[in-house]
Amino acid sequence: MIEHRVLTEHFDTPDLHRLEVYESIGGYTALRKAVAMAPEDLLSELEASGLRGRGGAGFSMGKKASFIPMGTMDKFLCCNADESEPGTFKDRLLMQRNPHRLIEGMIIAARAAGANKAFIYIRGEYELQADILDAALAEARAKGYLGESILGSDHQCDLVVHRGAGAYICGEESALLDSLEGKRGNPRLKPPFPANQGLYQGPTLINNVETLCNVPLIVDRGADWFRTLGTEKSTGTKLVSVSGNVRRPGNYEVELGVPAREIVEGLAGGAPEGQTIKCWFPGGSSAPILLPEHLDLPYDFENMAEAGSMLGSAAIIVVDDSQPIVEVAMAIAKFYHHESCGKCVPCREGTSWTVKMLDRIDSGEATPMDIEILASVQEQIVGNCLCVLGDSMAMPIASMVKHFRPEFEAHIEQARRAADREAIAAPVEEAA
Ligand code: SF4
Repeated sequence: MIEHRVLTEHFDTPDLHRLEVYESIGGYTALRKAVAMAPEDLLSELEASGLRGRGGAGFSMGKKASFIPMGTMDKFLCCNADESEPGTFKDRLLMQRNPHRLIEGMIIAARAAGANKAFIYIRGEYELQADILDAALAEARAKGYLGESILGSDHQCDLVVHRGAGAYICGEESALLDSLEGKRGNPRLKPPFPANQGLYQGPTLINNVETLCNVPLIVDRGADWFRTLGTEKSTGTKLVSVSGNVRRPGNYEVELGVPAREIVEGLAGGAPEGQTIKCWFPGGSSAPILLPEHLDLPYDFENMAEAGSMLGSAAIIVVDDSQPIVEVAMAIAKFYHHESCGKCVPCREGTSWTVKMLDRIDSGEATPMDIEILASVQEQIVGNCLCVLGDSMAMPIASMVKHFRPEFEAHIEQARRAADREAIAAPVEEAA
């Protein structure tokens, strides 16, 4: 059995979202241990575990927390629960089924970072999950897990659930902070980075839901236990959202480093009957596509990067051979064009140009030279934007042109012939 359930271990337990049930499976024992530990010892344990961010960047969680300066200024912890990357739906499951694990992880992470105020920034569409979190917070507060002098210790922390309003860009950490402050969610110029000047200009640690859910397990069972899971550099398990052209879409928890084929074909059942896999996104819609032969690679941070893509949010989107690649590219381009905040030119204009060029290719107005221009526009976007949204469109589209150029050329030729036929037929129909 390739599934390795650690984060999702008790998800079949009825009413797991309720405090008494969570406590009955050992919930909040890690917090009891954590409040007796010095913050620097907690940081060392997290760093020793090798836990890397589960939201997309894959940066060491312990190292990120260690960037928060010492001192008595107000510090903040923000949980990024804006899960808006197309294909990603793992954090929704974690918050809905086991909200107390996230809350416990946040209280511990806040102690490690020296923060007393914490926020969960949750995407506006996740109303059910936000309600569940609010109810869980009330239970935790009543039990003394939140507030002043937590469990009789010197640690104090309060936590607020803040609902977003449906903008993809608010998942970008600095836009998230602006939105949390009540402003329009626009990415900030960096540096300064949030660890130094984040929420209300104070040092701020920002982590993804799944990253924080791992924290109680590491504190409870130890960094050495965590390192027994996964690979040397990609430790732990990973919740993988599989969608697109597969027979059994869903969330699957596996150890990092298992062959991607076992996830896509084993757990998710592979392509529908009669179809074959054409390509796949290994880490959400912003990851460059990979080909079927890449399914034999270990699914971890290093191997996905070496293959020219990224693990990202670990959302695998499978595309089968019935899908025209131009339509896949158009879906990606339209999404990012719509979500661009418009603050910087390469992204604002580049996403708009890309949609227009793909439209030309699809309507028969393009020539093969338009493919060159399409590829060149993507090159000019990558690395030249204020935040990663521009790259999030340009990288997968550039990869589609690279791997499927003959299909783009054939699409132009077929669309041009169809347009010619329509032009010839039109006067005949009018005369009739
Ligand atoms: Fe806004 Fe796009 Fe520039 Fe990011 S890359 S700041 S979303 S215009």
